[in-house]
Amino acid sequence: MSSQGRRSAPLPKGWHRTRGRILKRDGRICQWPLVTGGICGEPANQVDHKIGAAQGVDDHSEANLWALCQWHHDQKTGREASAVAHARPPRARPTEAHPGLLP
Ligand SMILES: [Zn+2]
Repeated sequence: MSSQGRRSAPLPKGWHRTRGRILKRDGRICQWPLVTGGICGEPANQVDHKIGAAQGVDDHSEANLWALCQWHHDQKTGREASAVAHARPPRARPTEAHPGLLP
């Protein structure tokens, strides 16, 4: 067993089913609130604890769970939640073609 990662809290029994329920409840859409209002809206494939082990809380109730996109999940687990600062995932930015790449 490797001790990689900081997620040390064991997932509760029946987590797989709970995870499926949360994804369905949230429409498989990332629920991360944006500072501009609304939510991220990217396709979600992660179920996360709003308040979790990092805050010393061990609450696996559905009210404390939400669907997040991979990007926000990584941001949240990778650093303190406050540092994410309601940022958008990079791919939500409008893409501009590089002038040199135009045909
Ligand atoms: Zn997101």
